[in-house]
Amino acid sequence: MDYTKNDYYELFLKQKNNQLHIGNSSCKTRINTLNKLQKAIQVTYREAIQDALQKDLSKPLLETELTEIYTVVKEIKYAKTHLNKWMQKHNVDTPLTLLGSSSYIKYESKGVCLIISPWNFPFNLTFGPLVSAIAAGNTVIIKPSEMTPHSSELMAKIVSDIFEEDEVALVQGEVETSTELLKLPFNHIFFTGSPKVGKIVMQAASKNLSSLTLELGGKSPTVIDRTANIDKAAKKLMWGKFLNAGQICICPDYVLIDEALKDNFIEACKKWLNHYFTANPKASQSYGRIVTDKHFERLESYLQEAEQKNGKVELGGNRDSSSKYIEPTIISDLKPEAMLLEDEIFGPILPIVTYKSLDLAITYINSKARPLALYIFSSNKTNIKKIINNTRAGGTCINNTIIHYTNHNLPFGGINNSGIGKSHGFFGFEAFSNKRAFIKQYTFGVTELLFPPYTSFKEKIAKLTIKWF
Ligand code: NAD
Repeated sequence: MDYTKNDYYELFLKQKNNQLHIGNSSCKTRINTLNKLQKAIQVTYREAIQDALQKDLSKPLLETELTEIYTVVKEIKYAKTHLNKWMQKHNVDTPLTLLGSSSYIKYESKGVCLIISPWNFPFNLTFGPLVSAIAAGNTVIIKPSEMTPHSSELMAKIVSDIFEEDEVALVQGEVETSTELLKLPFNHIFFTGSPKVGKIVMQAASKNLSSLTLELGGKSPTVIDRTANIDKAAKKLMWGKFLNAGQICICPDYVLIDEALKDNFIEACKKWLNHYFTANPKASQSYGRIVTDKHFERLESYLQEAEQKNGKVELGGNRDSSSKYIEPTIISDLKPEAMLLEDEIFGPILPIVTYKSLDLAITYINSKARPLALYIFSSNKTNIKKIINNTRAGGTCINNTIIHYTNHNLPFGGINNSGIGKSHGFFGFEAFSNKRAFIKQYTFGVTELLFPPYTSFKEKIAKLTIKWF
C-alpha cells in the first residue's frame, strides 16, 4: 500500500489500538509471525531480493546471500530458539527489609515502534531490527532508505504480503517522510544511519520522550603493530575494507601502522586485492559499485583533494563515474586535515597513517570521536591490552575485521558518536522491551512497622535498619 503524509497518523493510531493485543501475544504466536518472515526471505522472495540488490548496488550474489539473507534468517532462528526464555519472568532477590514479598522482572513490549533504515544493507538493516521488534511483541512502522528504491519497493511488498497494517507497515519516502513520521509519539525509535541524522532523530524523539536506539557510524580505526603477521592482516583487511565496496558501517576506515611495516604491508595488500578481485576489479563479479551518483561524487571529491595535496596513491585510484565504479584504493601521506582523515569514508578508499610509537597511535585514535569498531592486528598481548585499555569503541576484533557483527551472542552497537543502545539477539529483544519491575506482597510486610506516626521506637528501628540491612 502507498501511504501519503495524511495516512501516517491514522496508521499510527491503528497500531496503537492493536499494541496490547500484539504485546500480550504468546511465544508461539510470535514464532509463527517470525516463521512467515523467514519463509518470505529464505524462499518466496529470495530471487527477488537478489535481483533488487543487483539493481540497487550491483551486489555480488554471494554477498547478498551471506550479508542480507543469511544474517536475517540467522537473527530469526536465534530469536526463535531463545524467545521462550526471554519472555519468562525473571525472579530476582528480595532484600530482608521487604520480607513478605517477592520480586521479578518481565520484558514487556514497548508499544508502537518506528524503524528507520539505511541503504547499504537494505534487507539486513530493516528486517534485522524488525525481528527483534516482533520478538518483543511490538507493532512497527518501517521507513527504509530512498537510495535503494528496488529494495525498498520489494520490502514494501513483502511487508504488505505477510502482515496486517495494524501489526507491521512500511512507508516509503525521502527525508520529509522521516520528518513527518518522527512527529508521532512512538514508544521506541530504532534508527540506523549517520551520526548527523542520528542527532536530528534524537532531537525529534525528545519531543515525545520516545526511547531510542541509534545505530550510527563514524571512522573505525585499524591498528597494526610491529608484531603483527602482515600477510594475514592484509588478507583480512582487504576483505573487510572492500566488501560491499567499502559501504559498511564497521568497515575499517583507516589504518594506523608502525612506519617500519608500511612497504611490506602495501605489497601484501596488492597480493590479496589481486587474489580477490583480479588485476581488473572493474570486471570482477566479486566487487560492487557505489550506490548513487551523489555518493560517487563525494568519494571522488575526497580523492581529488588528496591528489591535489600530494597524497600518494599506493594502489588503485581508477574510477568511472558512468558506472559508479571506484577501484579498491589505498592512499598514504595525507595531510592530517584531509577529508579522508576527517569524514567517515564509507567507500572503497583506505588511508594509511604511519606511527612512530603505539602511544602516538592511541593518541591519534582518541583525538577522534569514539568509533563503532576498532580493529587490532598484533601478536603481543601487552600491546593488545594497552590499546584496549586506553581506547573506547562499540566493538573490537583482534586479528580480524567485521566478524564480531555476525555473532548474535554479542551486542552490536556504538558508543556516543557511533551510537546509543545495542542490537542483535537478546540485546535487540531488550532494546524493544520495557523491563517492567514487579514486587508482589503476599503476607505482612516489615516495612509496615515504619509507617507513620513516627515514634521514638520506630526511629530506633530505622537506625538499626540503616546500620544492619
Ligand atoms: P542517513 O543517515 O543519511 O540515512 C538513514 C535514514 O535516515 C534513511 O532512511 C534516510 O531517508 C533517513 N534520513 C536522512 N536524512 C534525514 C533527516 N534529515 N531526517 C530524518 N530522516 C532522515 O544514512 P545512510 O546514508 O543511509 O547510511 C550511511 C550511514 O549509516 C553511515 O554513517 C553508516 O556508518 C551508518 N550505518 C550504521 C550502521 C550500524 O548498524 N551502526 C549500519 C549501516 C549504516
